[in-house]
Amino acid sequence: MEHLSCTNVSHTRTVVTMTDVLISGGGVAGSALAWWLRRHGFRPTVVERAPAPRDGGYKVDVRGSALTVLDRMGLAGPVRAHDTGMRLARFLDPRGRQLATMDAALFGGRSDGDVEIMRGDLTRILRTAAGDVEHRFDDSVTTLRADADGVDVTFARGGHHRFDLVIGADGLHSTVRRLAFGPAAAHLRPLGHHIAICTVPAALGEERIELLHPAPGRTVGVYRTAGAPDARALFLFRSPAGEPDPDDAAVLGRAFAGAGWRVPELLAAAVDASDLYLDAMSQVRMASWSTGRVGLVGDAAYAASPASGQGTSLGLVGAYVLADALAGAGGRPAAGFAAYERRMRPFVAANQALAERNLKGMVLGSAGQIRFQTTMLRLLTHLPGRERMISRVAEPIRRASTAIALPDAA
Ligand SMILES: Cc1cc2nc3c(=O)[nH]c(=O)nc-3n(C[C@H](O)[C@H](O)[C@H](O)COP(=O)(O)OP(=O)(O)OC[C@H]3O[C@@H](n4cnc5c(N)ncnc54)[C@H](O)[C@@H]3O)c2cc1C
Repeated sequence: MEHLSCTNVSHTRTVVTMTDVLISGGGVAGSALAWWLRRHGFRPTVVERAPAPRDGGYKVDVRGSALTVLDRMGLAGPVRAHDTGMRLARFLDPRGRQLATMDAALFGGRSDGDVEIMRGDLTRILRTAAGDVEHRFDDSVTTLRADADGVDVTFARGGHHRFDLVIGADGLHSTVRRLAFGPAAAHLRPLGHHIAICTVPAALGEERIELLHPAPGRTVGVYRTAGAPDARALFLFRSPAGEPDPDDAAVLGRAFAGAGWRVPELLAAAVDASDLYLDAMSQVRMASWSTGRVGLVGDAAYAASPASGQGTSLGLVGAYVLADALAGAGGRPAAGFAAYERRMRPFVAANQALAERNLKGMVLGSAGQIRFQTTMLRLLTHLPGRERMISRVAEPIRRASTAIALPDAA
């Protein structure tokens, strides 16, 4: 493969190379980073723990500056073509009676032009567009040994290799972060709630409608995107106190014991699901996103949590800014990582701040609050100044999603 060398002469006249880059994690941030690094003339390799590319997943939003990044990749069109096509959010009481409805875009905090897409579709589009980047599926980094000139990496499936740079794009529980920066607990900031998501039979959902059953301290939802052969269930609940293993699936049953509507069927389906994701909703907060020749991008560095609705956009923008900063660093990784942080920090802070605010509206504390929320939603359609009120709700998300000056495209 032809590629430009990023070998350069630093100010001290030492020849420093950073051509071969290992990216740990082939999700949104890792795939976008591979695309941009290749565009800048680096030679990225992606190591992905999953045995094969993962389709589906859950729906994610792409907003604001992240859409500009997709546009610069020439991918805004293909991504829009895979929009979930959701129409409506419908709030239901324990007997399944409708309490209120809401336009799906408003429910998702999306303004004009923002896109909602299944995570698997977005990752596939990014990975395919990156072309002949080497992917090592079903593998993972086990050790990293960095020196001034490179990083020696060993892999779980055997073998070792030396890279010029290693970038952890391996998500909330990043292995690269643990290996290079220390134990996970030092950087994870739990938001006090757990989230579970899984595939359930299509019959439990309704096409293009988000069904939601809010109850004090816990909310259940189920949706089926346009043309999807199955539905996705989502469980949000206050993090259980005193549970020995709060990420054990049995916790779900206890958290939703006695719940009405279709919750018993959804719980039974969750227990049977092969793709149940259950975790504490957390953010990643770090003093620095790099050490020597090892850096982090996306959730691994600055997860904002699903409650922010901005994790995907942070990953896309972060990949773009990191690749640009490394390419402009004259072969000096420290300078590249520093430029990346300078540009990204305020954007990350603005978007992480959305999560706690959003979470308050996603899991309500009492029956009174639920009544108030659904009554307001019902009234909203009839109130004068409706448009102004709606734009006030969406404005903080819109502002945060564009709170960065992107460097010019390469
Ligand atoms: C349930 C749920 C709902 C969400 N909803 C939204 C939403 O509505 N809107 C939104 O914007 N964001 C949402 N997010 C967040 C969003 O998915 C992430 O913020 C976004 O995908 C960040 O991408 P990433 O590439 O940094 O991390 P990830 O998407 O987590 O990708 C990390 C990749 O690394 C791989 N990996 C992990 N460990 C290793 C290892 N040791 N070695 C190799 N590979 C590894 C994983 O398999 C994965 O492919 C949601 C997240 C979850 C969990």
